[in-house]
Amino acid sequence: MTDRAAELRAYHEAEVVGCTRCPLHAGRTQVVVGNGDPTAELMLVGEAPGYHEDRLGVPFVGQAGKLLDRLLAGIGLTRADVFVANVLKCRPPGNRDPAPGEIEACESHLFRQISIIRPRLVCTLGNFATKLLSGRPQGISRMHGREIRARIGDLDVVLYPLFHPAAALYTPSMLSLLEEDFARIPTLLAGAAAPAREDPRPAPPSPAAAVASEPALSSGRARPAEAEQLGLF
Ligand code: SF4
Repeated sequence: MTDRAAELRAYHEAEVVGCTRCPLHAGRTQVVVGNGDPTAELMLVGEAPGYHEDRLGVPFVGQAGKLLDRLLAGIGLTRADVFVANVLKCRPPGNRDPAPGEIEACESHLFRQISIIRPRLVCTLGNFATKLLSGRPQGISRMHGREIRARIGDLDVVLYPLFHPAAALYTPSMLSLLEEDFARIPTLLAGAAAPAREDPRPAPPSPAAAVASEPALSSGRARPAEAEQLGLF
């Protein structure tokens, strides 16, 4: 076991699997900490466990998980090559949206996972992960497909917001955009070690950066936005 794998396991066992910081602990079957390679260069962050994830203790095992597997396979990756986690580690009842207090209670678990795994590229899947890790208020329809340099704790990463696979399951136009955005991941991974370019615009307060008491450092790079042309912004 690598040092990072041991550190991640120790953190999960000590702080996460028995966590009772928010009311969601009362209704869970188990905590879904995440899974994959604890030394992965690519980390994917979704929203929260659903029914199947809560039962099995593994993220993305339902239909959305199958789509995620297919998207990863399309760029030559498997789950074993990446680490997959969620903003919330326990299932909200009825699969409702995460509440702000639940995100606040749980966010340090995600930040700690990121600081241990030290990915170079973090793909946020959907609105909740994107807003939390970017520190920006814009929704995923505006943010998807545009990489952002960000600092999370002591780590400089490239954030790459994507639609949540669940949202693309039954919407062909969104699935096309998701596939197109996924196709850029290998290029982004190859370039993720390049020095960050500072954004001349003042960055909004970032909860991620606040944890480390450091200012958010983000630089967005606009690319031709097909979604904009489709009127999705
Ligand atoms: Fe703890 Fe997060 Fe589960 Fe709430 S959702 S009980 S903060 S692990």
